[in-house]
Amino acid sequence: MEIKENFKHKGNRKKLIDLLQSKGIEDESVLEAMNRIPRHLFLNSAFEDHAYEDKAFPIAANQTISHPYTVAFQTSLLHVMPGDKILEVGTGSGYQTAVLVAMGAEVYTIERQKALVDFSRQMFQKLKIEPRYQTFGDGYKGLPTFAPFDKILVTAGTPVIPTVLLGQLIIGGIAVIPIGEINQKMFSFLRIDERRYEQMEFGDYQFVPMLENKDDL
Ligand code: SAH
Repeated sequence: MEIKENFKHKGNRKKLIDLLQSKGIEDESVLEAMNRIPRHLFLNSAFEDHAYEDKAFPIAANQTISHPYTVAFQTSLLHVMPGDKILEVGTGSGYQTAVLVAMGAEVYTIERQKALVDFSRQMFQKLKIEPRYQTFGDGYKGLPTFAPFDKILVTAGTPVIPTVLLGQLIIGGIAVIPIGEINQKMFSFLRIDERRYEQMEFGDYQFVPMLENKDDL
């Protein structure tokens, strides 16, 4: 990966990793991947000096790059193993995608804002990050032609459980999805068999809303 960065970026990133650890993130592979990905490059340069604070920032098309803690927590809940086939809904800046790829996952990512598809594609090229598949479309539909997936990660808030997506998990697979109309609770779903999922609920979060495929797409 070719990275344009200085010692300050590196130092601040390490401090962020220490902060994430102090907030309870234990998965070494998540911390190690986040210590490698230059988050400052995924943000508008106006925010560069704050890129390694635990804050969300605006990106194009009125969307946001999630708090680093949220990225770390969602990624930890996925229990990513190298080679995992992961569907990500909401490519956004591409930062979360980059973290998953750095962990050795084969990532299939969908985004419904064209500007962000283009932006993240450029980032991947610049940083030589290779998701397995990147597309413009409606994540509510998932990617039936590539299903099933070992893991599914949704990075926008959905008002109800997206059952179509859960149906694209392998048996034994895990989906991590923030659910709620205005504020969200984090949920993980472990697929037990054809019909049953073990559901776990975690804390409160605030995500941009997951929007359906409408005219503006
Ligand atoms: N993972 C991103 C976070 C982006 S915020 C990052 O690391 O930067 C959530 C993203 O979900 C936004 O980019 C938004 O446009 C996208 N989104 C919302 N509804 C969607 C849908 N139905 N399908 C695909 N992407 C969607």
